[in-house]
Amino acid sequence: MPNLSNFHNFSTGHLEVISGPMFSGKTEELIRRVRRAQIARVKVQVFRPTIDNRYDDRDVVSHSAQSIEAIPVKNSSDIWHRIKDSTRIVAIDEVQFFDNEIIKVITKLTNRGHRLICAGLDLDYRAKPFGPIPTLLAMADEIVKVHAICTICGGIATRSQRVVKSNDQVLVGAMEAYEARCRAHFEYNEADEEEEEKIKVENVSAMSAIGNNLNLN
Ligand code: ADP
Ligand code: MG
Repeated sequence: MPNLSNFHNFSTGHLEVISGPMFSGKTEELIRRVRRAQIARVKVQVFRPTIDNRYDDRDVVSHSAQSIEAIPVKNSSDIWHRIKDSTRIVAIDEVQFFDNEIIKVITKLTNRGHRLICAGLDLDYRAKPFGPIPTLLAMADEIVKVHAICTICGGIATRSQRVVKSNDQVLVGAMEAYEARCRAHFEYNEADEEEEEKIKVENVSAMSAIGNNLNLN
């Protein structure tokens, strides 16, 4: 199957989405595509959300320590406002962390003729679709699904296993917090999480009942 981006003449907009679990090489692939464009002296701007400051405050850095200069932005409208007139390619790493406005920004940029290269997690730690990614995958002209290596069996990993306790969808971390896992070795028990939530709610009501009895409220 041909890689469509090689044949694209860039006179019209084009949306490429690189997606997969953690450690699957999404950032490496984004960097590879950006470097090739830079060799051809095509003007590229790379963005990443400020929330992801695992390695560097400025650059986009892969788990294999490859890096490229990037502009950290707080939200999606920052991307829109920072695009320079000369920019032809816009690359966005960790696109799943942006608010849903990112869809509008990406649509406007592709409609204006830019080539967009977006990399992001397809699934969160519960293996549920992550933020704006499902919409971006539907809108994309080209999708690349990349895989990691399962840390248990060495098979194809498509899931990001959280190995520390937290129920927050966004918990930024690398190897200390996540492992790449295949479907068979991915463990997430929705029932356990529901039970934990129930205990939390019961504890909160018990505490407020004690507060009421002691006239603390
Ligand atoms: P992503 O952006 O998808 O999280 P990166 O591009 O930052 O991934 O890093 C990919 C690199 O991570 C690989 O080339 C490899 O050096 C390293 N790596 C660490 N753990 C794994 C793993 N379990 N499977 C594959 N690559 C891994
Ligand atoms: Mg990455």
